[in-house]
Amino acid sequence: MSEKSGFDAVFVGGGVIGLASAWRAAQRGARVLVLERAEPPAGATNVAAGMLAPVGELTFGRRELLDLALASAALWADFAAQVEASGGGATGFRRCGALHVALDRDEAGELRRRHDLQRELGLEAEWLTPTRCRELEPGLVPNFVGGVLAGSEGAVDPRALALALAAALREAGGELRTGTGVVDGLWDGERLAGVRTAPSALTRPSDELVQTLDVRADAVVLCNGAWSGQTAWLPEEARPPVRPVKGETVELRPREGEGAPASRIVCSERVYLVPRPDGRLIVGATQEERGFDTVVTAGGVHELLREAYRVLPDVAEMEFFGTIAGLRPGTPDNLPIVGRGAVEGLVLATGHFRNGILLTPLTAEAVAATLAGTASPAVIAEADPNRSSLVAHGAANDRRLPADRPLEASR
Ligand SMILES: Cc1cc2nc3c(=O)[nH]c(=O)nc-3n(C[C@H](O)[C@H](O)[C@H](O)COP(=O)(O)OP(=O)(O)OC[C@H]3O[C@@H](n4cnc5c(N)ncnc54)[C@H](O)[C@@H]3O)c2cc1C
Repeated sequence: MSEKSGFDAVFVGGGVIGLASAWRAAQRGARVLVLERAEPPAGATNVAAGMLAPVGELTFGRRELLDLALASAALWADFAAQVEASGGGATGFRRCGALHVALDRDEAGELRRRHDLQRELGLEAEWLTPTRCRELEPGLVPNFVGGVLAGSEGAVDPRALALALAAALREAGGELRTGTGVVDGLWDGERLAGVRTAPSALTRPSDELVQTLDVRADAVVLCNGAWSGQTAWLPEEARPPVRPVKGETVELRPREGEGAPASRIVCSERVYLVPRPDGRLIVGATQEERGFDTVVTAGGVHELLREAYRVLPDVAEMEFFGTIAGLRPGTPDNLPIVGRGAVEGLVLATGHFRNGILLTPLTAEAVAATLAGTASPAVIAEADPNRSSLVAHGAANDRRLPADRPLEASR
């Protein structure tokens, strides 16, 4: 066993949330170490489509989520520019806009209802005729009923983002140790004083004798996504009530010399298609409560491709490149959990469910501020780990709670 000490914070998990939060903390002068059991990009970060879509995701959340989403969306352009300036490469960030189309009358009714709500809330969303939609996206299916353009939505490539963040973290003086899973906590009485890792499979030859690593730090940031609810080494009352919510995406690639069949995000009620700057198209996403199952199913892929074809028929000509399943970190009220935990020394940054990529800049600011003891962005109070909608559900083990509650129901 060996020991590392002298860190201001150790981060458990190197997905976008852990990497970005550690980077922001390092920029403020904190000595930080990220422990990631796989190799970034991993976790849900490796699967996400990368939509930055507060308007489109409105249906799936509560008013508080919209506040968080809008606050984080406003940070994205600067955030991406700063990450890229750190030398880690492009993130694929673009304000490309999103077009939501209604394929039949029923879908049009639902889209109208959502559009009314978007307007009521003062969001940028414009109802368009099919002709106007096809002027914007000529690849759209010929017959449909109408669409809503959410012009300020954006997208990023989460895999590229994770790699760029890892580079930015190192450039800012932070450390990232991969292939290193955390299996236990270190305690000074009732205070969490660090973590212990599993014997590392990727240990360097010079560290051959290292079985486990004890890392002592002033704060432990739990940012291991869907797995954070399984943190058996924390007392039950300190474990965040996070459950895995499975999702599958499909990656399509353009034929030689061709681009993606859309220039902006295109969504129907059942599918979304996110173009990457290099012409790839990410089709997403299924959503299922299946525990930690990450098997890609024929049914899931069939559903995604069928629905993609109904919106943009040209996808049929694209190369089928691959498909992947991942686990969203879901919470009882669909809001993230960010702030000081129930034991001293613990900081939580988890439960970002369907919007973790979008919420990364805001979460990173909040975690870095919490660690520095300075004021966090006010809106992050909506993600308070002690909020009543989490406490009301009591035991962290109660994972079968309603998933998508419509915004209206929460108002
Ligand atoms: C199909 C799908 C589509 C999505 N699309 C979008 C989208 O378009 N826009 C959006 O904003 N969000 C989207 N999301 C959600 C987004 O991916 C997540 O909210 C976000 O990735 C959460 O980031 P994270 O860093 O908390 O978790 P993760 O990305 O899951 O990272 C957690 C990391 O912790 C590591 N880890 C776990 N346990 C340990 C341990 N004990 N020790 C060390 N390391 C550990 C894991 O290996 C993993 O790398 C999507 C998710 C899915 C599954």
